[in-house]
Amino acid sequence: MNVPADKEVSFRESVNLCCDMAMATLDIPDGMAKYIRNVNNVYQVRFPVKIKGQIETFIGWRAVHSDHKLPAKGGIRFAPNVNQDEVEALAALMSYKCALVDVPFGGSKGGLLIDPKNYERGEMESITRRFAYELIQKDYIGSAVNVPAPDMGTGQREMAWIVSTYAAHCPGDINQLGCVTGKPVSMGGIQGRIEATGRGVVFGLREFFRHPEDVKLAKMEGDSLEGKKVIIQGLGNVGYYTASILQKEDGAKIIAILEWDGALYDPNGLDVEDVFQYKVANKGGVTGYPNAEYFEDSKSLLERDCDILIPAAMEAVINQSNAAQIKAKLIAEAANGPVTFAAESILKEKGVVIIPDVYLNAGGVTVSYFEWIKNLSHIRFGRMQRRYEEGQSQLVIQAIEATGTKVPLDLVKKLSQGASEIDLVRSGLDDTMRKAFQEIRERYWSTENIDNYRTAAMALAIEKIYTSYRTMGIYP
Ligand code: GLU
Repeated sequence: MNVPADKEVSFRESVNLCCDMAMATLDIPDGMAKYIRNVNNVYQVRFPVKIKGQIETFIGWRAVHSDHKLPAKGGIRFAPNVNQDEVEALAALMSYKCALVDVPFGGSKGGLLIDPKNYERGEMESITRRFAYELIQKDYIGSAVNVPAPDMGTGQREMAWIVSTYAAHCPGDINQLGCVTGKPVSMGGIQGRIEATGRGVVFGLREFFRHPEDVKLAKMEGDSLEGKKVIIQGLGNVGYYTASILQKEDGAKIIAILEWDGALYDPNGLDVEDVFQYKVANKGGVTGYPNAEYFEDSKSLLERDCDILIPAAMEAVINQSNAAQIKAKLIAEAANGPVTFAAESILKEKGVVIIPDVYLNAGGVTVSYFEWIKNLSHIRFGRMQRRYEEGQSQLVIQAIEATGTKVPLDLVKKLSQGASEIDLVRSGLDDTMRKAFQEIRERYWSTENIDNYRTAAMALAIEKIYTSYRTMGIYP
């Protein structure tokens, strides 16, 4: 295979090269391999919106990489540098991600070229609604065809505007709430969606530490995250929840947090909540934070000594220019595409283990899947069975106590609590992340020509997509 490992390629080429490496370990006919690899369709739209009395033109994209399962799924990104290449790469990653974690969707992604910082709330609403309208017109939004979600620069607020625009244009669609996920809970969203990607990253890391051979591979010790030194790049939604859960629930030490305006460092561990509150109160930046050492050159902290480096914001932050200097033992890709293809081969040489994006950040879309099911079934999870389960548990406790054994009060409390929506969401997410990692490591350890988790994960995903297309009859 002719792989230009020593030169940087575009994000889409990078994803394609990873796909080729996985294809090389599978027995898939050439034509089918090409079909799976490439984006099926992409819609580019230009539309006008009146801003402060002037007409401004905006440009956006929605790409569908695969429709072996419908609807196609993936976020919408609002960013000042988004382009078609990036949207296509991200759409492809969505296909592989969904297939890998058995979320029955094709892969899609959207992007709008905009710097949200330059617009007021009302203006953002008009722009988002108009973009949504354009996508609805071309069937790029709808619970059965294509379901957007939050991504960089978008969140619950934008999803609420999109669902409301959809409802206005498609009043007869009884499943209109399922046209987009990541909505506010009051508008058909689900508990636990905001934290989902970060929590999924933590569930993935916990599963990694349950396997001693894999921990050894990354030159680490122990069976948990307790005391592990972690560097987080990007304290946005994904980075914040990852860091916060790792610190509060797992006892990891967050020694550095990197942001756009600088980085904070404390070898004894930063207080994630405190940094986050400071950031919120200071225009999203960390400059001037009083309780840690501050570095203006944020990126230099990527090269600090640590156990786990978690890039949680942009693609290509670890590239040819800094890969050789990375000292982390494990890179946990919470963002999409943070390690370039060229950087990966340098890191491989150094023995740095990478848990790939296509697996590790799948928590977001997994909980989106739960939200979509909730919307289609028109009922909140746990509503039918929670109190019934509580009643049954109380009967068991009564039966035990009738034998003369007193059940301790704390146990009675725990036992007699039926599962709420958030309990079920977290349990479903945990199960998804555990199962997928077990499959990846199984493929990694059992296949001679696979020497990294990314190729193992991609091979599993591609195999599933291929099976779907074959079963459909696209290839006999
Ligand atoms: N934007 C997220 C991702 O890249 C979530 C996608 C979704 O929930 O559909 O995985």
